[in-house]
Amino acid sequence: MSIPLIFTLDKPSLRCGHIPESDAPDEIPGPPDELLRRELDLPRVAEPEVVRHFVNLSVLNHHVDRGFYPLGSCTMKYNPKVNESLAALPGFSGLHPHQPVSTYQGALNLMETLERWFCEITGMAAVTLQPAAGSHGELTGMFITHAYHKARGDRRRRVLIPDSAHGTNPASIVMAGYESVPVLSDARGRIDLEALKRELTPDVAALMVTNPNTLGLFEDRIGEIADAVHRAGALLYMDGANMNALVGLARPGDMGFDIVHLNLHKTFSTPHGGGGPGSGPVAVNAELEPFLPLPRIRHLEDKSLGWDWDRPDSIGQMHTFYGNFAMLVRAAAYIRALGSAGLKRVAETAILNANYLRAMLKDAYKLPYDDLCMHEVVFSADNQGEKGIKAVDIAKRLLDFGYHAPTINFPLIVHQALMIEPTETETLETLEGFVRTMLQIDREARETPEVLHEAPHNTPVSRLDEATAARQLDICYRPDVYVS
Ligand SMILES: *Cc1c(COP(=O)(O)O)cnc(C)c1O
Repeated sequence: MSIPLIFTLDKPSLRCGHIPESDAPDEIPGPPDELLRRELDLPRVAEPEVVRHFVNLSVLNHHVDRGFYPLGSCTMKYNPKVNESLAALPGFSGLHPHQPVSTYQGALNLMETLERWFCEITGMAAVTLQPAAGSHGELTGMFITHAYHKARGDRRRRVLIPDSAHGTNPASIVMAGYESVPVLSDARGRIDLEALKRELTPDVAALMVTNPNTLGLFEDRIGEIADAVHRAGALLYMDGANMNALVGLARPGDMGFDIVHLNLHKTFSTPHGGGGPGSGPVAVNAELEPFLPLPRIRHLEDKSLGWDWDRPDSIGQMHTFYGNFAMLVRAAAYIRALGSAGLKRVAETAILNANYLRAMLKDAYKLPYDDLCMHEVVFSADNQGEKGIKAVDIAKRLLDFGYHAPTINFPLIVHQALMIEPTETETLETLEGFVRTMLQIDREARETPEVLHEAPHNTPVSRLDEATAARQLDICYRPDVYVS
């Protein structure tokens, strides 16, 4: 379906809105006259046409309310809609951070409760809710690492990451002023303990580990890893983006981690995608608590809640005010609704769903690390490579069947990687349909490879020049360019 731009639907004969005369009292000053525009070049389109136009546009892109979205690492799960209504309650959505603190005790109470719940979930001593994304949490964690070593009079330059790490890990490490040093994985897809020990020199500030890692595998020697890191005087940071595989089952604090971030837009019910606001709280052990960002919630003498700005060891503010508050409301509602038994089922179902896909597809698709997985499974498209089929061809062909593509070509240590994360919110029927489609695509790879090379066939546009689109982003309407 091709959809014209709203501007080209313009019909000069139509009137499509009635703006009432202002009834604001004259003494309230409006914007300065020189900033006001009298004429706006807006399209004239009938109201039903406007509604249809945007509804049609909304289904051109894939989204989780429209179909299965197995984009590995990203956890594109369905988020309960009731949490949207709760975040939109006027008492929450109408808050202003400059209100007197006595007027938003409820919001502070929600934040304090959520901090406590995250401590329990992670096995840590204290939490900041400020960071706005997982990557922002990583940066916060690296600043905390830096402050910790500095307070001990220790200058360390390097932070280690496994070679399967997500791209934000080295970026955060470098932004915090450290050198990022990769550590090799072993044949089982886990950190190579011997390689790690060789790299653990006295100038290593931390090891940043994703657990389960980006291959969907649990770092089953994490206890030994933690011991080795701590013996070297370094801190152990956990990228907790994959927490939907652990929540209610295992706690980073118990594994020996010192710092962990959570991605509320992955694990805890914030809609994910489209560049909207996210949230990446950071939990730390008791020794690191003094370094957490400013301000911290505290109990005042009269038992009410307020802010503590008097924390000399803090790394400072990481976000204006107190973080993306509406995400915190969604997370609190989600945790409250599920309870501890429900959270445990989240992880169990995420693991079960991924292992179902692993078992059903491993005869057709190469499984480079043939082991039980956690919440996601990474295949390689090498079996399909004979007729020149690549991971991208399989990903594009999936679009024809109404699925979002899996993540491809990541993690980098897997050749032609297909990284599939079904998430815990999908039904068995959905997974079965996906398996049938993947097996059909495998047959096509052998019998009619041209169908895959030319895919997608059923989408509004076919293969795009993605590199140019990303580098020369052009999303503004210009009448001179778009006259139909
Ligand atoms: C998503 C993800 C991140 C980054 O999180 P953002 O919230 O997108 O910044 C880091 N590591 C892993 C493993 C991830 O999946």
